[in-house]
Amino acid sequence: MSAPMPAGRALGAPLVAHDYEPTIFEFSSPGRRAAAFRTTDLPAWTAEELVPEAFRRTEPVALPEVSERDLVAHFTRLTHRQYSVDLGAYPLGSCTMKYNPKAADAGASLPGFTQVHPAAPASCSQGWLELLVELEESLCSITGMAAVTLQPAAGAAGELTGLLLMHAYHDARGQRRRRVIIPDSAHGTNPASVTLSGFEVTTVGTNERGGVDLDALRGLLDEDVAGIMLTNPSTLGLFEDDIVQIAEAVHEVGGLLYYDGANLNAILGIVRPGDMGFDIVHLNVHKTFATPHGGGGPGAGPVAVSAELAPFLPGPRPTRSGSGYSLTMPERSIGRVHSWHGNAVVLLRAWMYLRLNGGDGLKRVSEVAVLNANWLKERLRDTYDIPYERPVMHECVISAKSLHHETGLSALDVAKRLIELGFHPPTVYFPLIVEEALMIEPTETESPQTVAALADAFIQIAREARDAGNADDAKAAPRTTPVGRVDEARAARKLVVTFDQRDAE
Ligand SMILES: *Cc1c(COP(=O)(O)O)cnc(C)c1O
Repeated sequence: MSAPMPAGRALGAPLVAHDYEPTIFEFSSPGRRAAAFRTTDLPAWTAEELVPEAFRRTEPVALPEVSERDLVAHFTRLTHRQYSVDLGAYPLGSCTMKYNPKAADAGASLPGFTQVHPAAPASCSQGWLELLVELEESLCSITGMAAVTLQPAAGAAGELTGLLLMHAYHDARGQRRRRVIIPDSAHGTNPASVTLSGFEVTTVGTNERGGVDLDALRGLLDEDVAGIMLTNPSTLGLFEDDIVQIAEAVHEVGGLLYYDGANLNAILGIVRPGDMGFDIVHLNVHKTFATPHGGGGPGAGPVAVSAELAPFLPGPRPTRSGSGYSLTMPERSIGRVHSWHGNAVVLLRAWMYLRLNGGDGLKRVSEVAVLNANWLKERLRDTYDIPYERPVMHECVISAKSLHHETGLSALDVAKRLIELGFHPPTVYFPLIVEEALMIEPTETESPQTVAALADAFIQIAREARDAGNADDAKAAPRTTPVGRVDEARAARKLVVTFDQRDAE
């Protein structure tokens, strides 16, 4: 039994909550095909000839049987239910959901790149190796570090790699250090990676300026400290101006400094983690350098290190040798952290992005990201609370604390109402140290008009509640989306990720 296709919606008509899109299985009709091959007189292998009996299916696999037309319509309708970076502003703080230039995608689709097997010998993949070496060199000059591994699959994988390098470094000195210090404003992946790598987390507090509490840090430092994980600017969007003193204090006890460089669009071409005293840096090229990401899509989290740590890097690494390129294993390598060369096509997009933004292009990227975030913060200052009174970098954290006390509207309500006004919501309730936090990252790809419209939407939501006494709209939002407000706790705890035809019958 196949479900009727949903009736067509007028072009441009908004999707409403009750538009039900069946699963592809519900369209299934026995014998229907999306593609059919012409029969030929050529002899064909049968399953009996190809697959030993023990491995053959006894029943046909339950796949949906649909026409190409219905298949394309189904998935196209699903894409129309989504919000994406290609549709509009996506100010999800810390995630850098910016528009990614299509030229990078076009380069990454060239058959000369995509049709090389990763196991091809170095002599047959010189172009690829050259590109990877050039990318490593660019990332070294951007971060101020000596060497890079391109293998880690994403930011969190880069963190784990960096922490394993920290282990290897101390091991080589015959030292067993147990603790890694992390500020209380840190991204959640930092403590998770520390624990996964076998270290213990020690938390350091934040001072009234939003930076690391230096006195508290000094009190925590001893020879059991393997290192500190920081991001600068912090997740509050603030530049850590005590960074030189922090680096000195940590190095003094023999610890290393790890830089969470997930959001490098704050500092490109302006300052470098290596110059601030960092020893290990991971970058999210999928946030900073042109790969659409989210929903678990592919990423890449290269890790850059100082010369002292280079011998421990994962390998084999692409290297210049004579006039060509080869793959070499660093002397004391921690081994592989990914098969082959890492997520090569994501790395290729990063290489393309760097070429597209030559000259002072990267610096301009950061200048615009920082300008947009500061402009937005200033526009919102009379409507929302500003927890730390300082210029911000690529993102700003504001608070709905007063709005909440006055009208009952929470940061969550503001975020949900924003969806109805045409924007993706910001990150909410993070960093944890800011009450009713709204973490907004307009990014460098949005025009002044878009950033102004975003600010207007934030202001409108607060005014509806304060001036018009209407908190109900925001509390009921979103009402214009295919799925309304969900019970967040239940949605996270009771995942239903499969479709069972028997339930539908
Ligand atoms: C996104 C992010 C990470 C994690 O990166 P993934 O690629 O999602 O694993 C780590 N730290 C910060 C500050 C981030 O914004």
